[in-house]
Amino acid sequence: MPASSEWDLAVVGAGPAGSTAALAAMRANPAARVLMLDSAHFPRDKICGDGVAPHALDILAALGVDLAALTAGTAPVRDLRLTSPRGVTAARRFARPASVVPRALLDLRLVQAARTAGARLRRHRVRTLTPVRDGVDIDGIAWARVVIGADGAESVVRRQCGARRAPAGTTAIALRGYTSAQPWPAGEQRLVMTTAHWPAYAWVFPIGDGTANVGYGELIRAETPTRAHLTERLHALLPDCPPVTLRGHRLPLSPGRPDVGHGRVLLAGDAASLINPLTGEGIYYAILSGFLAGTAALTTGPADRYRRSLRETLGRHLRHTDAVSRLIRAPWLVDVATTAARDHQRAFDDLVEIGLGAGTIRPALAAAMLTALARPSRSGPA
Ligand SMILES: Cc1cc2nc3c(=O)[nH]c(=O)nc-3n(C[C@H](O)[C@H](O)[C@H](O)COP(=O)(O)OP(=O)(O)OC[C@H]3O[C@@H](n4cnc5c(N)ncnc54)[C@H](O)[C@@H]3O)c2cc1C
Repeated sequence: MPASSEWDLAVVGAGPAGSTAALAAMRANPAARVLMLDSAHFPRDKICGDGVAPHALDILAALGVDLAALTAGTAPVRDLRLTSPRGVTAARRFARPASVVPRALLDLRLVQAARTAGARLRRHRVRTLTPVRDGVDIDGIAWARVVIGADGAESVVRRQCGARRAPAGTTAIALRGYTSAQPWPAGEQRLVMTTAHWPAYAWVFPIGDGTANVGYGELIRAETPTRAHLTERLHALLPDCPPVTLRGHRLPLSPGRPDVGHGRVLLAGDAASLINPLTGEGIYYAILSGFLAGTAALTTGPADRYRRSLRETLGRHLRHTDAVSRLIRAPWLVDVATTAARDHQRAFDDLVEIGLGAGTIRPALAAAMLTALARPSRSGPA
């Protein structure tokens, strides 16, 4: 590859958002010159719960990704045990199983799929974008007609393109570790919430190979919680969790109307603050937004087209989760929703769609919540 090269599209960051964007662009035009730039060498770890919603796999399958190869070495997770802040438990079967694929594997496999489709990968840490000649210069090493910033939570591209900063109170932090001493049933995901430091929860996501991903996260308020605090909370919520090596990372939660780019620079995934503010799930949004950005990138007016398609697919859901995330600052509402999910499969399914997919509160969940509220033993405001 020459020192300075010309591309139809440069994708900064080759995580799920970046690889999917490259795949989508190559699918839209197999002759396109698509470059992925990543500061890391693959395989690389990404601190994450590794939970992959079936909705994300649907998009990848439509792009021709072999899902059996993508999830090889893991087993589908069929059940979810949800414990609300004040201890209501809903344990039910997912309508569609989830997957838990360690990111070292998932991201490597996605990068390989994008390369097989014709995208090129170069190791480089991007620092500066400069608008030039109907395109964008990247650190003097490459010129591209369009750039997709998929460089994660600390996105340089986001800062360089002048995107709006996320509002205060929309960033969370979480610690994650792997354990092979699994005291929990295999095939069941666990989420344990707590009123302490609310909103906050711990998770157990079994991978299906005898190991599990465990972690704890909470919203960042005035001060960033310390590692000692987060570790103490993890073991308080999962008392049977063996000692585990933990690493932390920030989560830019979706503010409802995220700023996803300007002119020739589009933002996808965490770089666009696209993480579900209710659950911390970001892989589905990363893959969906990467798909839409990659599809729009080679058209005229890419930013407008991308913004429109993202609004059409996710806009209502994002505004909804933003509003709900404000309402549930009162944790008793989550007790009510969990009671509804405990008592009604359809309410449970609706709740999962909101947390993992693009769902909104539908009549089944609303009715079940009203019923739960009306009970004498209801979980209501204290
Ligand atoms: C502890 C924790 C647990 C989570 N659990 C889950 C979960 O279970 N399920 C779920 O759906 N989501 C989860 N998330 C969120 C999920 O990890 C992210 O939403 C997801 O990784 C976003 O993908 P991405 O492609 O946008 O960014 P990333 O996966 O962060 O990829 C960004 C890429 O950009 C590269 N990069 C960064 N800066 C530069 C630069 N300047 N130049 C070149 N390359 C650069 C990085 O090396 C990286 O490869 C969790 C997050 C955390 C922190």
